[in-house]
Amino acid sequence: MQIIRARVLGMCMGVRRAEELAREAATKAFQEGSRVYTYGPLIHNPQAVADLESLGVHVLDAKAIETGTGELPDLKNAAVVIRAHGASLAALSRLHELGASIIDATCPRVIKSQRLARHYEKLGWQVVLVGDPHHGEIAGILGHTSNALVVDSPKMALQMAEKLKDHPCALIAQTTIRQEDYDAVIEVFQAHVKNMAAEKTICPATRERQRALIDLCGQVDAMLIVGGKNSENTKRLYASAIECGVPAWHIETASELKTEMVKFARIGITAGASTPDFIVDEIQETLSNMV
Ligand code: SF4
Repeated sequence: MQIIRARVLGMCMGVRRAEELAREAATKAFQEGSRVYTYGPLIHNPQAVADLESLGVHVLDAKAIETGTGELPDLKNAAVVIRAHGASLAALSRLHELGASIIDATCPRVIKSQRLARHYEKLGWQVVLVGDPHHGEIAGILGHTSNALVVDSPKMALQMAEKLKDHPCALIAQTTIRQEDYDAVIEVFQAHVKNMAAEKTICPATRERQRALIDLCGQVDAMLIVGGKNSENTKRLYASAIECGVPAWHIETASELKTEMVKFARIGITAGASTPDFIVDEIQETLSNMV
């Protein structure tokens, strides 16, 4: 059996950088006898979170910080790593008040979206974020403005655009949404709002992994998609493999490999943007030993 990796797979620049910063913080905390936390799970991958936990990097309840409710550990002199999705200004100032030192691992692309949102708001434009209102990135950008709105479908965009027709509007997309979904919302605003801007904030990382997967599907008999079951971009990779018509499995670890997978002559492997390299390596090695 031949195992072929997608030409682009696994951790994106932003998640890789956040993970490296957390590891550096763990080493420093170990040497100094201090503590290190991440603002919510750093990565949408349970194995990567468990790996960091084994180094002493604990997960803080981001909701408890945002809402000021719930139990929190003593954060005086502790370091808190902000994940690639970023955090709201209110959350950052609350962490400061609690005595934490902040290690900002917000992805530079997300920082750009936060800056754009503040910029348009200062100009008096209505900021409209296009994406999932429950996603950490959208919640974070929202918290850099005082009155931004969120839209997640063309239907919702239509209701909003009709109300905002005389107001200048700036659209900012969640970095990980599909270009087609953003374009559909842009089209609605263009048709109803006199003065509007649509910023190009979609990150190419998701698209590159999608394209590499589709190319690979044409060369293999089956696909393994590796990544957290809670990772949206991994779920989308799996859906695309199915659409390509190849048998596919979405797995998190090597323990989910099945004997039926080794009956194929060529099997492809790809991984979502939050999957650490060690998991992909382990799966590839275990699979080749099963033949
Ligand atoms: S997907 Fe893109 S924007 Fe999001 S963390 Fe990765 S590199 Fe940054």
